[in-house]
Amino acid sequence: IFQLSLPLNFLGTIYRELQQNLLDMEVLFKLREDNPPIEDVRGAQPLNLPIDTGKSIRFENVNFAYHPSRPIFTDLSFIIPAGKRTAFVGPSGCGKSTILRLLFRFYDPTSGRILIGDQDISQVQLTSLRKAIGVVPQDTPLFHADVMHNVRYGNLEKDEYEAIDAAKKANVHEAIMRLPEGYKTKVGERGLMISGGEKQRLAVARVLLKDPPILFFDEATSALDAHTEAELMKNINSALLRQSRTSIFIAHRLRTIVEADLIVVLQDGRVAEQGTHEELLKKAGLYYRMWQEQQALAAAEFVEEFEKQET
Ligand code: ATP
Repeated sequence: IFQLSLPLNFLGTIYRELQQNLLDMEVLFKLREDNPPIEDVRGAQPLNLPIDTGKSIRFENVNFAYHPSRPIFTDLSFIIPAGKRTAFVGPSGCGKSTILRLLFRFYDPTSGRILIGDQDISQVQLTSLRKAIGVVPQDTPLFHADVMHNVRYGNLEKDEYEAIDAAKKANVHEAIMRLPEGYKTKVGERGLMISGGEKQRLAVARVLLKDPPILFFDEATSALDAHTEAELMKNINSALLRQSRTSIFIAHRLRTIVEADLIVVLQDGRVAEQGTHEELLKKAGLYYRMWQEQQALAAAEFVEEFEKQET
């Protein structure tokens, strides 16, 4: 029995790793079929952990295009400081999500380098790189399995107690307990309602289980209502942002990232400006204009909502 169980265990581990990576890939990146598969270089080394204060993430003169005729990044350089919160903002299509795809190595830059600490990620073992990055995606994919499996998916090596603990920290435990069969409720069955906010909190629970040194949060384009959004940001701040974690936000609504340590504004394939919220407002440049626009929009929505209630 002993002889048999060893290789089976081993297979189990491989299966889990495979399943994990498959999910990450399928879900986060609508990969193009002609996208050449990226593999480990010969002699690839694991990513050195921990990713502590000295190990910022650096893009150095990165050039990238999905199609040669349409460059997305030209000589793009920036630093994502270790252990801090960095947000990327910019007009739609400026390449915010592409940064995540390059960091995850679903694509490699045409030229230039991406470094974590002093390691060029193109020289690092892919599995170790992807293991180090946790993502809260825009739209959390759920499986046709029970809620427990959907939470545990973040790290199948953690047990049910740890999963429940993560769900509590992500503030989704109570919502789960209200489901007809709690954690045993099958997702995808008729009538089971999971709201956008709950789904994203479930993703937070998954990432908590994974506990990665680098966290990527891709804010949903479609707005949650202001209350849900504020709750979600609170959860993220309290549950996910531990001191040593490097956190990266792709933001569409500037009000969700005013507290970021660094805001990088992208435009036309380059960094247009960067700084904290206050610093950027003072510059009265692109960020300032985006902020004014969003404030005006929010005010208009508020008035509209108010008038609706009056009538
Ligand atoms: P948004 O704010 O609208 O989410 P974004 O800043 O995240 O946009 P990206 O998703 O990074 O932008 O895309 C940058 C540009 O590259 C866009 O013009 C997009 O259409 C294009 N693009 C994205 N993925 C691919 C792909 N797989 N193949 C070809 N072009 C792509």
